[in-house]
Amino acid sequence: MGEDTRRYGELNPSPRLLFGTGPTNPDPRVLRALGLPLLGQFDPEFTAIMNEVSDLCRFVFRTDNRRAFPVSGTSRAGLEAALCSILEPGDRAVVGVAGRFGELLAEIATRCGAEVTRVETEWGRLIDPDALRAAASRARPKAVALVHGDTSTGVLQPLPDLVQIAHEVGAVVVVDAVLTLGGVPVETDRWGLDVCVAGTQKCLGCPSGMAPLTYTAEVERMILGRRRPVQSNYLDLGQLQAYWGPDRLNHHTLPTSLTYGLREALRLIHEEGLEARWARHRRAGAALHAGLEAMGLRLFGDPAHRLPMLAIVEVPEGISEAGIREALLREHDIEIMGAFGRLRGRAWRVGFLASNAELRHVLHFLAAFEDVLRDAGLRLPPRAGVEAAMRAVA
Ligand SMILES: *Cc1c(COP(=O)(O)O)cnc(C)c1O
Repeated sequence: MGEDTRRYGELNPSPRLLFGTGPTNPDPRVLRALGLPLLGQFDPEFTAIMNEVSDLCRFVFRTDNRRAFPVSGTSRAGLEAALCSILEPGDRAVVGVAGRFGELLAEIATRCGAEVTRVETEWGRLIDPDALRAAASRARPKAVALVHGDTSTGVLQPLPDLVQIAHEVGAVVVVDAVLTLGGVPVETDRWGLDVCVAGTQKCLGCPSGMAPLTYTAEVERMILGRRRPVQSNYLDLGQLQAYWGPDRLNHHTLPTSLTYGLREALRLIHEEGLEARWARHRRAGAALHAGLEAMGLRLFGDPAHRLPMLAIVEVPEGISEAGIREALLREHDIEIMGAFGRLRGRAWRVGFLASNAELRHVLHFLAAFEDVLRDAGLRLPPRAGVEAAMRAVA
């Protein structure tokens, strides 16, 4: 190997507007928190911060659960921690599969060695309560896993009826609220969610890398009463709760900077208030949906169950899905996303999450989107999107 004589430029990423389905742009105060001086993980100043993070998690999840803390790792680490700490090989689980993230829950539960029954529905539709009841009465599962807002389909799944069905057969309910927490109501205690898992880079407005979760005392007993230890040391909630709890039993080295960022993101939600934040996401989404429809574009999924902060936009005939995304990035510094599975190449996924859920961002996007679609040859009524968006929230 010769000496490396290249020069490496200063890191200077473009100021992208992240209008996809996550990550979203964090508030500048969150970014600033990431650069604060490090504390040791058992410094009393830092353990006090950990306790505040737990308190703020309880606030955002709307729960009085004793156990509420982030797992270090992205959202799927939180989902995996929940499922692999509850399920032992041979246990039965029922999973609602209505999109990419229901598939993920089924895959993780299968890897835990559980016997998994899938309750499937066509993408864009809700899980049918009767189908869940039939599967749950047959399987008598230990756990039922459900996605609250599936980012691949843009559908918001109402949970209370499904939770009741699971509880009737004695199962605990594990919910993926990765997209929804902080953007739409997630009522952990009122809806009876036994485990609720979130992510940081969606409606919480923090970089990815932690997965806040919470679970009940019943789930805690289930985890501590396992026949054999959790296969994963890193994702063992029994060990993690002993680290996050007053015993502070040493586990991994907590990512200090991300913990600061998460604390600041949660603090901002506390300061704004959950109701005001949900209303802000609703308002931005109403403008987005009205704007896109006024441009003559079709939105995927049942309008009655659309996630307010997302739009899954069908690609019109003759337009290149990837070409439009590239033009938005190149000409406007705007990122949106393509789709998965059977929607791949056929839809764009657009989202206004956390501090991006503002009318001015929606208007900026609609104007840029109109511009690149027109350049690609689509005939569009001028300014129809922007004007409809403004009217929708006037
Ligand atoms: C983004 C997302 C995930 C996965 O999150 P990572 O942070 O990428 O691990 C899981 N479920 C839903 C609903 C999501 O939107």
